[in-house]
Amino acid sequence: MYDVLILGAGPAGLTASIYVARGGLKVAIIDKMSFGGQLALTSEIENYPGFSSISGFELAYKMQQQAEGLGVKFLYEEIESVDLENKMVKTTQNEYKSKAIIIALGASPRLLGNPREQELTGSGISYCATCDGNFFRNKNVAVIGGGNTAIEDAMYLSNLCNKVYLVHRREGFRATKFELDKLHSKENIELVLNSVVEEILGKFQVEGLVVKDKENNLRTLDVNGIFVAIGRNPNTSLFSGVEFDNGYIVTDSECRTNIKGIYACGDIIKKSLRQVITACSDGAIAGETALKELEM
Ligand code: NAP
Repeated sequence: MYDVLILGAGPAGLTASIYVARGGLKVAIIDKMSFGGQLALTSEIENYPGFSSISGFELAYKMQQQAEGLGVKFLYEEIESVDLENKMVKTTQNEYKSKAIIIALGASPRLLGNPREQELTGSGISYCATCDGNFFRNKNVAVIGGGNTAIEDAMYLSNLCNKVYLVHRREGFRATKFELDKLHSKENIELVLNSVVEEILGKFQVEGLVVKDKENNLRTLDVNGIFVAIGRNPNTSLFSGVEFDNGYIVTDSECRTNIKGIYACGDIIKKSLRQVITACSDGAIAGETALKELEM
């Protein structure tokens, strides 16, 4: 039996594990396949204090190594169900019991909702520019979205691809001015504004993208890749009994949920700023709160 089970090995879960392990408790992190979460899929981080520029994977690796060095156990297993009241977690391989649980499962990419999306995912449609960009070297691609992720993906892909169309449904961007200003230096990024995805072309692979503007004009973009970057949804499907707001788990300022002994941190909780640094920040708070309350 573990003192604390942490669900999710992204920056929030990793940080929570470091705090709990340093407090001398027995702690394990469960994650499906690997550590790092969304951080590990991010090409470059430029706003994590101490590193003016670092790859997401490298930062995640440093965190994981630190946690492992402190004795945190990493269980790479898929979670099937969670009984929050009884602090039980069932994976496809095992069943675990603990005294406290920290939920840090983060968020997953939002889907476009296009009928061809599922069948062409992996055959031209991707949700991760840094994972799949290389497959589109010297080809044309489209990035869908207007947030920081879309801008960063477009910037990253512009270094690999022949041409990048940045398709956004509005004129104004959600991304920060700092990110947007970077676009000026890129001649092979074309903005396609006030436009939405109408049709994805290609039988077995993406062979084009039809977009529709506000006046219902259609335009076909000659692309082989479509990178969807339209935000994320919190991974909360395993949980019941905790309070939600707009899909996100509600916590107090100490990262407690409404269930005793259940804490939550990172992108899965209700908060205003979802960044690596804020995930680490509330990971630290969740870990420290769990630690204190188990020692009481
Ligand atoms: P986001 O900020 O929520 O932006 C999502 C974008 O996708 C918005 O422009 C939105 O359009 C558009 N969109 C949403 N649903 C759509 C749909 N069905 N069809 C077409 N477009 C759609 O998401 P994000 O860019 O993934 O960023 C998530 C969080 O991570 C943000 O807080 C962001 O600041 C942070 N982040 C930070 C950094 C950094 O600081 N370096 C890097 C990446 C991400 P509307 O604007 O019209 O709603």
